[in-house]
Amino acid sequence: MRIVVLAGGIGGARFLRGLKAAAPDADITVIGNTGDDIHLFGLKVCPDLDTVMYTLGGGINEEQGWGRTDETFQVKSELAAYGVGPEWFGLGDRDFATHIVRTQMLGAGYPLSAVTEALCDRWQPGVRLIPMSDDRIETHVAVETDGERKAVHFQEYWVKLRASVDALAVVPVGAEQAKPAPGVLEAIAEADVVIFPPSNPVVSIGTILAVPGIREAIAEAGVPVVGLSPIVGDAPVRGMADKVLAAVGVEASAAAVAEHYGSGLLDGWLVDTVDAAAVERIESAGIRCRAVPLLMTDPEEGTAAAAMAREALALAEEVREVRG
Ligand code: GDP
Ligand code: CA
Repeated sequence: MRIVVLAGGIGGARFLRGLKAAAPDADITVIGNTGDDIHLFGLKVCPDLDTVMYTLGGGINEEQGWGRTDETFQVKSELAAYGVGPEWFGLGDRDFATHIVRTQMLGAGYPLSAVTEALCDRWQPGVRLIPMSDDRIETHVAVETDGERKAVHFQEYWVKLRASVDALAVVPVGAEQAKPAPGVLEAIAEADVVIFPPSNPVVSIGTILAVPGIREAIAEAGVPVVGLSPIVGDAPVRGMADKVLAAVGVEASAAAVAEHYGSGLLDGWLVDTVDAAAVERIESAGIRCRAVPLLMTDPEEGTAAAAMAREALALAEEVREVRG
């Protein structure tokens, strides 16, 4: 079975760990979000690609859900001693090595997709991880502070401001001119199922879908497309997804997120059992829906995520059967 997953960082990565356990023989291609990428200290940092790579490769800091395990921060404090920031973005010493290797390879002319493959040679994530695009795309968020409207980099909004002010707009700068990375459209065309894990619908999956050609390829693949809600009981399980959903005019609920993707894209949607009352609304929007436990309560063991992955694959099978 060939499975394509569109993934952000932590929600995508933890789900993928469960998917690998649920479908050990499947051939899994992950299309990773690069809209969160940022240049820091002259280095290219790809937080979502690295979260997937470290989580599946056994190098993740489990409590945080991002960054390396057993991390130290000597480089960061030396940089701070020079007065060189930003201090709000936590790059550890082990993590720095990844960004140095990546930046060096990019400087030598390799595209990000080839660099990601090279980094994965070390981590052996057990999936094929492809960035959504080799072109530079940077998510910016429009905010208003002191009566002045300005756009900030997504990381500044998320990490520095902690989404404490309203997001007025979310723009994947550069997306319109970008092309999908080599292998992305091919993987979608050859997939038996496409899964949207419980990743952020706006700044993770939304950004991937903003790369011209990707949304169309998924809609036209003619295979079941199923998703899992990152919103449980009208709130994001982690993080501030409600803030960026509001920016695109979508309420923070499992049903509203399903409708936002729409029946033109999505065939099936899993909501948490606490949102069982939303099943009817989602099905009336033309999206097959089931309520099952959706909390990855044991991220390290991944038992809950594996059960979620089995439910997603079962829902995909139902969609396939109904279509005949
Ligand atoms: P990021 O790039 O690190 O923010 O990660 P993603 O975009 O992949 O995932 C973020 C989303 O994952 C957030 O909106 C969370 O609500 C969601 N999430 C995190 N843990 C869980 C969980 O256990 N269950 C569900 N359903 N969603 C989760
Ligand atoms: Ca992210």
